[in-house]
Amino acid sequence: MTSKITIAIDGFSSTGKSTLAKQLAKELGYAYVDTGAMYRAITLFAMQNGYINNDFFDKESLIHSLSFIRLRFKFRPELGFAVMILNDIDVESEIRTIEVSGFVSKIAEIDEVRAKLVEQQQEMGKGKGIVMDGRDIGTVVFPEAELKLYMNANAQTRAQRRFDELVSKGDTVTFEEVYNNVVERDYIDTHRANSPLVKAVDAIEIDNSAMTRGEQFSFVLDLVKKII
Ligand code: C5P
Repeated sequence: MTSKITIAIDGFSSTGKSTLAKQLAKELGYAYVDTGAMYRAITLFAMQNGYINNDFFDKESLIHSLSFIRLRFKFRPELGFAVMILNDIDVESEIRTIEVSGFVSKIAEIDEVRAKLVEQQQEMGKGKGIVMDGRDIGTVVFPEAELKLYMNANAQTRAQRRFDELVSKGDTVTFEEVYNNVVERDYIDTHRANSPLVKAVDAIEIDNSAMTRGEQFSFVLDLVKKII
């Protein structure tokens, strides 16, 4: 009998966490949860309600509105992955814009936001058989995960990947804008007081600056097989 495990993938922005997580989930028949999408959806909610913009941030109103935010994932067979649903509306494409990326790390610093999302994430992973990616999965959400990965790549490579992704979707962004956003989020995510991005002591570090997706996948799949 094969036992199901929990796979926690943490790391910097645009390190290919979600690509790897989706590959693993598909191969193993596990659920995949992109926790970044949850922080992005709350950010979109804050923007839509006028709680945050370039020169204003009304944290208290956002905190008071948290109980009105319902988040869930809905699997879309035609896409092969689950999309983010915010209060019954599919927001998958809106949450991936550079505008949301510009505010999300400030929203993710708020204790009440983290408490709400961590609780929901722990509930989703109760039965194991899950691949979850984010910044605090191996340290806070599932400190007991059987496999923890900590992913990195140089900032130039990561910004280029994100830039190519946005351009292919038709977004008008400059490379500099994307690069600055990646570096700014890295800084905030690693320096915040609550659940900063750090490598769990028992996590395996992967620098994929010079690795193909296929090489990375077979390396990690070997690790999974050894554990199972
Ligand atoms: O993974 P992604 O780049 O979409 O995450 C967007 C942002 O959400 C991160 O830069 C970080 O600020 C926040 N985040 C977090 N904890 C997580 C997942 C994401 O703080 N577990």
